[in-house]
Amino acid sequence: MKRLTILMALIIPLFLCTSWGFFAHQRINNLAIFTLPTGIIGFYKKNIKYITEHAVDPDKRRYADTLEAPRHYLDVENYEKDIDSIPEKWNDALAKYGLKHLNTNGIVPWQIQRTYFSLVKAFAARDSIKILKYSADLGHYIGDAHVPLHTTANHNGQLTNQVGIHAFWESRLPELFSTNYNFVVGKANYIKNPLKQAWKILKHTHSLVDTVLTFEAKLAATFPSDKKYSFSERNNTVLKQYSLEYSKEYHNQMNKMVERQMRAAILEIGSYWYSAWVDAGQPELKNLVRLEMNPEDKKAADHIEKKYQQGTVIGREF
Ligand SMILES: [Zn+2]
Repeated sequence: MKRLTILMALIIPLFLCTSWGFFAHQRINNLAIFTLPTGIIGFYKKNIKYITEHAVDPDKRRYADTLEAPRHYLDVENYEKDIDSIPEKWNDALAKYGLKHLNTNGIVPWQIQRTYFSLVKAFAARDSIKILKYSADLGHYIGDAHVPLHTTANHNGQLTNQVGIHAFWESRLPELFSTNYNFVVGKANYIKNPLKQAWKILKHTHSLVDTVLTFEAKLAATFPSDKKYSFSERNNTVLKQYSLEYSKEYHNQMNKMVERQMRAAILEIGSYWYSAWVDAGQPELKNLVRLEMNPEDKKAADHIEKKYQQGTVIGREF
């Protein structure tokens, strides 16, 4: 008992992950490749390892770059009561709220648009390194835009006594249950207006926030509190996480929401990649111009990796 008490003091809650968790982000980027048509799928398949592994680069950048955090979310309530009142275009939003407000409360739809244009440019230049970088990044931001708790000021349940729910929903649930999901999502479509589409995604995602939070609150109120968490010991520290029983119950109550959001993210990512290629004039993707990182980019990437390994997020956790 005493030992347990000491260990309890060292508890590391397994809540300290971000955005879909590494596992789900990598799976989503990986599966998006299979939505692509001929002309483009070959290139992505050849680089499947890169697209998968680098799905989490934007989260790693949060350890090195002060500007990175707000690119992953948008706290709707901190802008407007009604999401439809937020100006869709960056310049209009900038004029209305100012840069500081934007960088505090999140910019994910505009980040999707920005990364999309970088990808179109990379395709037009037939620069394979940049195509891969921006594809992986774009996949990440689109993935984040599908997570309800990335669209609310109550992003980790901190306003409703539900701290931990962020990683519970986006990391723990997919890690436990996604092997049973159906990931056949069909073929990528051409997106006419990448910014409008980003807002469409975000508005739908935000409409799910209430369900995500209320169902967990209700479950917490009825579930035996001593069975809510499980503890496991590793290297003299106790890891605390939502128990399997609790996770199962919540997952059932979500009624496939996590699966639907992962499926939607996969199809959207494929569609954005495909559209960027079309907008660049459908360049031939064999024998591309640049195949190696230049030394400066390599140095920057190494720096981010080092900062990430040291492990301090700049800005907020979620
Ligand atoms: Zn993220």
